[in-house]
Amino acid sequence: MRVLIVEDEKKLANALVQILAADSMTADAVYTGTEGLDNALTGIYDVIVLDIMLPGMDGISVLKGIRKEGITTPVLMFTAKDDLSDKVTGLDSGADDYLTKPFAAEELKARIRALGRRSTSGILSGSTLSHGDLTLDLKACCLCCGNNRVKLALKELSVMELLMKNSDAAVSKDMLITRIWGYDSEAEDNNVEVYISFLRKKLSFLKSKVIIRTMRGIGYMLTEEV
Ligand code: CA
Repeated sequence: MRVLIVEDEKKLANALVQILAADSMTADAVYTGTEGLDNALTGIYDVIVLDIMLPGMDGISVLKGIRKEGITTPVLMFTAKDDLSDKVTGLDSGADDYLTKPFAAEELKARIRALGRRSTSGILSGSTLSHGDLTLDLKACCLCCGNNRVKLALKELSVMELLMKNSDAAVSKDMLITRIWGYDSEAEDNNVEVYISFLRKKLSFLKSKVIIRTMRGIGYMLTEEV
């Protein structure tokens, strides 16, 4: 599970990253509303933890921005005090849950897990995508072509999903890295190349007419062999 933490108290934000990591959740922390919105819009997160009181763009504005773009990732909001109006505004703006500071780490983890279970957005959203003779089953992590079927690793699935969702345009390596490995990752171009080559092998195993074309200096694009 991948969690985005938007919290301007850096010490708290970084402590939360550690706490969640100990529970095998991957968390990215950002400290401003603007960064929070940018990261949230990638759609790679299963749960977003959002502080209401942020300098500049506040949590409610971030939340409204996220929902306006159609991102349905569950959002847990932090309210600084037990302020009913904050909670009402938060829930009205599309928050799924809230937690009043200070809180116990165990309670936060339990709430995040509960939200993660009902997460419908992010990488494992929806059910299937199609392109040409291919069907990608996002829930079963399978790529199918006719009666042939192959299981994909999670990152292969994410790469294929992005290529299929952007099948009218080339997808750059930078975009793949940001969307799949995250902003702060140390993933490099050759990580992407490795997954593209795995996927090409699987496409050929499936005997699909769809190929992943390399557009030099631009990125990758799905095309059909004629
Ligand atoms: Ca704050």
